Amino acid sequence: MRKKIVAGNWKMNMTFDEGQKLTSEIVNMYKDEAIKDVIAVLNPPFPHIFPVKKLIGSVEGVALGSQNCSDKEAGAFTGEVSAKILASFGVKYVILGHSERREYFKENNELLAEKVKQALAHGLTPIFCCGESLEIRTAGTHESNVKFQLTESLFGLSPEDFSKVVIAYEPIWAIGTGKTATADQAQEMHAALRRHIAAKYGKEIAADTSILYGGSANPGNAKELFSKPDVDGGLIGGASLKSRDFIDIIKSF
Ligand code: 13P
Repeated sequence: MRKKIVAGNWKMNMTFDEGQKLTSEIVNMYKDEAIKDVIAVLNPPFPHIFPVKKLIGSVEGVALGSQNCSDKEAGAFTGEVSAKILASFGVKYVILGHSERREYFKENNELLAEKVKQALAHGLTPIFCCGESLEIRTAGTHESNVKFQLTESLFGLSPEDFSKVVIAYEPIWAIGTGKTATADQAQEMHAALRRHIAAKYGKEIAADTSILYGGSANPGNAKELFSKPDVDGGLIGGASLKSRDFIDIIKSF
């Protein structure tokens, strides 16, 4: 069944104390405000993984994710963190293919296909990011560009494996810019991606795939975005660093 998910991507923010405070507040509000059927995923930087996991405890509906994992299984890869290690610390989700990783760390579709395989092999749910630059949007080739990212990194998966993947559409021109895609632009791309998935894996798997929107989402625009039939949640950057905003986004469903 298609899940509603709101994932917070802390990026390279939050000291230990700040991360502890933010997590405690989010977990308490999630419980106190009796949020149901929306999964909240916290994706902190690596050193926070274990302490954040402890704070989440066994609260149902709040899950732990990371922002990256290695494409390798194990071994002499200094500075890398494998999906296997993350899984052993209780991580359930991993953001892969974020545009910042594609741009600053030169991650390409082939490498991402390997990372997705590693994640799935160790029981992590990949939150696979795709999205176009402003240049591509202006040229009008955004749909084919974003579909190609899915084809190259995900369409080698078996139907069983693909059905475990979550997609996040994040137009690069909307990330951290305050410029959100309109709800109609998001819906148009999400529907196109769902059709693309249906053509490869069939209607049932496509209907069950959660497709999140990311890019300057906030408590003021989340309701309209989430009202669209093919928008199943959000991948939130800046607004996930404030507990009230993050919870209000979750409550926008
Ligand atoms: P902002 O919400 O800060 O625009 O970031 C979006 C994002 O990149 C989430 O992964």
